Amino acid sequence: MNERVERVTHRGLDERVVVLRAGDEVDAVFVRTERFCVLVDTLSTPDLCRQALDLVAAERAGRPLLVVNSHMDWDHFWGNAALPPGTVIIAQTAALDRFHQPETAATLRDMAAREARFAGIELVAPTIGFAGAMRLEGGDLTLHLLHTPGHTPDHLAVWIPEIRTCLGVDAVEDPIPEVWSTALGDLRALCVSLQRIADLKAAILLPAHGGTSDPGLAARNLAYFDALAARVAGAGIEDSNDESDLAVRPGLRFEDLVPACRAMTAEMRTFYRGVHARNLAATVAAHRAAGGRPSV
Ligand SMILES: [Zn+2]
Repeated sequence: MNERVERVTHRGLDERVVVLRAGDEVDAVFVRTERFCVLVDTLSTPDLCRQALDLVAAERAGRPLLVVNSHMDWDHFWGNAALPPGTVIIAQTAALDRFHQPETAATLRDMAAREARFAGIELVAPTIGFAGAMRLEGGDLTLHLLHTPGHTPDHLAVWIPEIRTCLGVDAVEDPIPEVWSTALGDLRALCVSLQRIADLKAAILLPAHGGTSDPGLAARNLAYFDALAARVAGAGIEDSNDESDLAVRPGLRFEDLVPACRAMTAEMRTFYRGVHARNLAATVAAHRAAGGRPSV
């Protein structure tokens, strides 16, 4: 893991938006408005978050800093402890609930046992929770915080209409996003969130993983889930109870559904095969429960 954060820009990205990339792990995004600055996500460690804050220190020029936690997955908020005391941290109320679940601390314990960089991290909770949508009125730019569940129940995306830029975070992902569970509602929620993001007709769409700004990503992710549902419907699984081998069955494999993938290391390919296997399990569960693909 590359433990350095770098500033990244994309063709057409407004200069008030800075992507802060921690290697191939995750991106945070900094947005400068007339009234305040907003940091969307704090990366996976306080050290990485401190680096990110240093990289944008000049642009802040005395403006207050607001922080948004997109959701309570470790790679997006474990850097919170690096924020100055009293920093406002905004998230969905579902994220506040999730923060206090035992799994949150258990994940840190597990990962700290495996990787020294996570040892001793203090988990810092969001300080302001909201349900549904919130607007941050920066003057020149407005940040619409949109509840976009499905990847996780507490997930939010950010839409900045003045510059037609959407921070899709983990609701969209290149090559594919991951559904929260095999519960029917989660797959449906993810597809609804993807459709909602696609309907924004953004000029720039930034996922937190994948390094792209392609506004067609949400539609591509949706097409993947549609194709997966169609393949599952045609796979003749109705009489079989053995789903253990479905992800390696020709026609249902990751490579069959995502043929034109970005260049990936062997490690990333293994990771996304796992993501695909979990999406497939959710699609099979939806097929069995509803007799077809989840309706958007
Ligand atoms: Zn993530």
